[in-house]
Amino acid sequence: MSKRSFIIEHMEDDVHEWCVLEYKHMLMNIGPDHLYFSGLTQKCLESGMPEELKKANCHQEDVLHLPNVDPSEICLLDPAGTSELAPEDGDKFKYFLFGGILGDDPPKDRTKELRKLGFAGRRLGPVQMTTDTAVNVTKRVVEDRIPLDKIPYIDYPELKFSRHESVTMPFRYIANLKTIVTKDGKEKVIKKPLMPPGMLELIKKDNDESLEF
Ligand code: SAH
Repeated sequence: MSKRSFIIEHMEDDVHEWCVLEYKHMLMNIGPDHLYFSGLTQKCLESGMPEELKKANCHQEDVLHLPNVDPSEICLLDPAGTSELAPEDGDKFKYFLFGGILGDDPPKDRTKELRKLGFAGRRLGPVQMTTDTAVNVTKRVVEDRIPLDKIPYIDYPELKFSRHESVTMPFRYIANLKTIVTKDGKEKVIKKPLMPPGMLELIKKDNDESLEF
């Protein structure tokens, strides 16, 4: 089975800064050859997508009209999927499809736009992930053959910007485990959410702006 590919159907009207950071994070994990962005409007293609992302396979066509992509070989990662993704799905499917949707809280099930196209669906557990996390988790399951429940997660992490300022994210992230030595010399494992480079700063900036009176 040739290497699998990951398709993100871009479903926002523009390519927001948040999307760019997530998409760049996917590019870091997947590489350009097996990463597809479909459903990009002319405007997104011309002005939204930074040059670096254009190394991946960027298409205006929607996922059903991507050249040489057979819909029967596509697995939709769907928060409402009836069965969980398993390592053997890496042999059943050639493409893994995600909604390029900014997570919302509570989720409005915008993934139904793709579900109604009739793809086989798989869930990645009961908690909403950001798209780059969903891609990273899927890669670990279908490429590295790690069972879904053996991946370390952190749910609803609180991001502390200062003593008084913090934001709790309504998503599940992959946990980066770090061992630190506490003041009294004890070793302690702390879990930090794996986020796209630059995302913490963007969230802080958005948060500061929303706090401005
Ligand atoms: N809030 C959106 C989903 C945003 S997450 C909604 O209401 O549908 C963006 C994409 O990541 C989803 O379209 C899906 O492809 C994937 N995804 C996120 N969490 C998932 C989960 N728990 N199971 C399966 N796919 C998930």
